[in-house]
Amino acid sequence: MEVAGSRKLPGNVPGKYYTTEDCDGCAYCASVAPDHFDYEKKSNTYFVCRQPSVPGEEEVVVEAKEDCPVDAIRAAEELVHAVGGGRA
Ligand code: SF4
Repeated sequence: MEVAGSRKLPGNVPGKYYTTEDCDGCAYCASVAPDHFDYEKKSNTYFVCRQPSVPGEEEVVVEAKEDCPVDAIRAAEELVHAVGGGRA
């Protein structure tokens, strides 16, 4: 996983999952999780239109994420590694 500099697409709703500019509009994610991914015609990209809220929904979003051919679907936790913690 060395996808540096991929920026989050502006259409994503706030939350854990989002798509990046790497998206090539293949529509795979929307076929796997149609309730969670939507299409933006102008940029020919898909974005997260609804975050999963129950495990079954998360499952399909994760499936889309894992199978996205260009690795354009991310989970926010993947970026959070600068927080050292240290709470007692
Ligand atoms: S599967 Fe990946 S590349 Fe294809 S539309 Fe979805 S986010 Fe874009």
